Amino acid sequence: MSSKSPSLAYTVYNILVPLWPNAGSALAYRSCFELLVAVILSAQCTDEQVNSVTPALFTAYPDAESLSRASIADVETLVHATGFFRAKAANIVSTAGKIMRDYGGTVPDTIEELVTLPGVGRKTANLVVSVCYGKPGIVVDTHVLRTARRLGLAPTDDPSRSERLIGAMLPQSMWTAFSYALNRHGKFVCTARKPSCQTCPLALVCPSAQDFIGR
Ligand code: SF4
Repeated sequence: MSSKSPSLAYTVYNILVPLWPNAGSALAYRSCFELLVAVILSAQCTDEQVNSVTPALFTAYPDAESLSRASIADVETLVHATGFFRAKAANIVSTAGKIMRDYGGTVPDTIEELVTLPGVGRKTANLVVSVCYGKPGIVVDTHVLRTARRLGLAPTDDPSRSERLIGAMLPQSMWTAFSYALNRHGKFVCTARKPSCQTCPLALVCPSAQDFIGR
């Protein structure tokens, strides 16, 4: 890691967060439980597609107690359109059961506890603690991973390592807004196939800008 990365991280924060100020999730939810389920369903799937299936799912199974007793076949039908529906149905029913058994029906509020739930990795756990519980979280999805790598902040393809590197550069109070802004920047500007380096507000500080300009 470059010794200038922490100051670069502050520069990126100061430029991007004002441009993308509303840290949150595009997933539709009414409770921490619904958010958790929606995030599990969002693996390899767009938020829009998840939002198209969750109204019916949450009408049938509005909480951990009801979902823990659901028929897997019924849940598979309800979440079919999100892809990987068998694994996702099994995971959300198992997660609901574990929340009932181990956490009294309440979604846990720590990353360490959340990652013990079936289908829940660090990305999901960070999103739930930050969006639902207002705690610091670094949500490293594909957009954050790619953009942090191109910027030289986290030169890695490993999301857990990227999370650690970003976390070491910024105080916890900046984590949530930073990862949200980096996600928006990656989704709409620093895109996978054709990043908009010519108009990117980070072009002057980004070591990858010249790799793409003029292609
Ligand atoms: S200059 Fe290009 S590669 Fe660098 S952050 Fe901006 S869009 Fe991404």
